[in-house]
Amino acid sequence: MHYGIVPPFLLDRVAAADQPHLARAARAARHTLIAPREYRPRRTQLELSVEGGTLVARTEPSPDRTIADAAGTETLPGVTVRTEDRPPVADSTVNQAFDGLGATFDFFWEAYRRDSIDGCGLPLDATVHYGHDYDNAFWNGERMVFGDGDGDVFVGFTGSLTVIAHELTHGVTEASGGLDYQGQSGALNESISDVFGVLAEQSAHNQSVDEASWLIGAGILAPGIDGVALRSLKAPGTAYDDRVLGKDPQPATMAGFVHTSEDSGGVHINSGIPNHAFYLAAVAIGGRAWERAGRIWYRAVTAGTLPKDADFATFAHATLAAAQAEYGVDAKEVAAVRAAWTSVGVLAHAESPAH
Ligand SMILES: [Zn+2]
Repeated sequence: MHYGIVPPFLLDRVAAADQPHLARAARAARHTLIAPREYRPRRTQLELSVEGGTLVARTEPSPDRTIADAAGTETLPGVTVRTEDRPPVADSTVNQAFDGLGATFDFFWEAYRRDSIDGCGLPLDATVHYGHDYDNAFWNGERMVFGDGDGDVFVGFTGSLTVIAHELTHGVTEASGGLDYQGQSGALNESISDVFGVLAEQSAHNQSVDEASWLIGAGILAPGIDGVALRSLKAPGTAYDDRVLGKDPQPATMAGFVHTSEDSGGVHINSGIPNHAFYLAAVAIGGRAWERAGRIWYRAVTAGTLPKDADFATFAHATLAAAQAEYGVDAKEVAAVRAAWTSVGVLAHAESPAH
């Protein structure tokens, strides 16, 4: 499993950089690529909590966060430095992780009445300062883990809420039945994390579809890098164009679909196609994207009917079914979703309804 926010093809580019001033970054990327990263999927289970002899039923859930500090090592979980009962600390990375987990929790609860990753109040655990110059942030099935970046190409992964929400959404997808991390189903898995990654940020800032940046990872590229983020849902393929990183390889439509065995069959590349379909649907529906477009995607992901090997077309039909169930067969939301998938070439024009 490679649930890191930075795709392996980008780390390969940084690892191969031969400019003297990027020696530290290249070393960091090489190490990040080979560092062991155990994946530990967690079984959803019902835990009965008895407090003071009484079974407590929560009506308004709140996050249960624990932030640990690995202090530059690759040993998890590290030393606990902040919990719900402890105030902010001097280390801003710790506070950013704490606040980002809280904002993601609030987003899923307020938008979709989902109580944490598993819907059952799963505690949100994170480790910061993982490894030395570690160039990634990832979800290992149990916790969110943040490296500090090498400082010359990647900086502070806790700075972008989209990164935190992206990783936690991998947990939501998994808890909903999962999507195989390979080929089109893997690209869908990535895209769903990007979609709810940007929606968490848009919701936190109360942004309309026109006000939002639609970027994943804005602010995690170092100042000298020619780029604004890791990915763009609005304009896939335009997030960066840099001497070291190369050009953002994401296609926006099926015409640009990349056939590759790298990156688990291009999961971080072809995710640009469903990402752009979501963007088009959200803009056509208008307003705040998490309210209607996001609700349709959320319903499609969590209905429990998606096969683990779903391809783009299967998911497109699932979002159409979700839109029809939510808003009615003739709703403008349904037309917007259909037009979006048609625009990116996943659904054919002939699939328009007869009525
Ligand atoms: Zn991911």
